[in-house]
Amino acid sequence: MKLDSSTLFREDLAELSAYAVPDATGLVKLDAMENPYGLPEDLAREIGTIAARAELNRYPDPAACVLKARLYETQGIPPDMGLLLGNGSDELIQILALAVARPQAVILGVEPSFVMYRLIARFCRVEYVGVPLAEDFGLDLAATRAAIARAKPALVFLAYPNNPTGNLFEPAQIEAIIEANPGLTVIDEAYFPFARKTFMERLADFPRLMVMRTLSKLGLAGLRLGYLVGRPELIRELDKLRLPYNVNVLTQSIAARVLAAAEVLDTQAARIREERARLARRLGQLPGVEVFPSDANFLLFRVAQADEVFEGLKRHGILIKNLSSAHPRLRGCLRVTVGTREQNDAFLSSLQDCL
Ligand SMILES: *Cc1c(COP(=O)(O)O)cnc(C)c1O
Repeated sequence: MKLDSSTLFREDLAELSAYAVPDATGLVKLDAMENPYGLPEDLAREIGTIAARAELNRYPDPAACVLKARLYETQGIPPDMGLLLGNGSDELIQILALAVARPQAVILGVEPSFVMYRLIARFCRVEYVGVPLAEDFGLDLAATRAAIARAKPALVFLAYPNNPTGNLFEPAQIEAIIEANPGLTVIDEAYFPFARKTFMERLADFPRLMVMRTLSKLGLAGLRLGYLVGRPELIRELDKLRLPYNVNVLTQSIAARVLAAAEVLDTQAARIREERARLARRLGQLPGVEVFPSDANFLLFRVAQADEVFEGLKRHGILIKNLSSAHPRLRGCLRVTVGTREQNDAFLSSLQDCL
């Protein structure tokens, strides 16, 4: 007998689709802002030992004390601020959305930006308002202020640098938004290792400001660890909505070890920044390619025939991200993650063939 799931679940579930991740088997993977470098052999071996010794029969430390201490030591987190860990920053976005989910609550973001803000707001039945960015992908401060005055958001998300556009917004404009916003403002610094600009030191100045980061783009996407920093009073409340063992034993022990090897991750981030500059220069030299400035580990660029170029690259064995239909402002736009020098060269020469 056929099962009619629509009567069993909330009505709006029928309109949603599961988050689609394309199969990258056999392809050069430049679609998801992953760090292309593995860990050095000796560190990888040490992680093997840590994994072998981990007490997998025990629940993880629910407070993740060792890992949190390591994050405070290595990530420039002010000691008087609270820290909340998530299974990726996606989980932190979910905790934030759940925490503000009163009837009539609004979450506000800019468009185009990280799609999870809108999606998770919907999962939590919170209205989402997206304010269009200016022509150059900077903030439209007047429009954003007007939208804030109208919607009185409980929560504003600003990705700094923004994904998928790659740019940093003007700090003075961000400050104006934090001040105008009656609710929380979360600055999402997922790309901090490549931009090295932060609002972390400004937390003391703005009580409703929070800073969110992740280890995903830094080189540990597979471990799933995000963190949220803000006033201890805020973190204490948000922590009530965190599932008790959300950061597993292996993530806690391995992330703590890798963070101690700061020079490894710093060197890799520096190489990615150098490659970003080279890739941007080379892309900009290709006729018919408009490349946008980026402070992240990816580049957004526009071509005349984005769908054809995207499919052509895939036939050449290279997977990037096609954003052409994601938002009207992204018409013709593709996004490529900065890879190793060899990967970037392969991408560039294939792109030339596909244009
Ligand atoms: C990639 C990305 C994240 C990371 O999410 P994780 O769940 O930590 O992997 C968060 N915010 C933005 C803007 C991103 O681009």
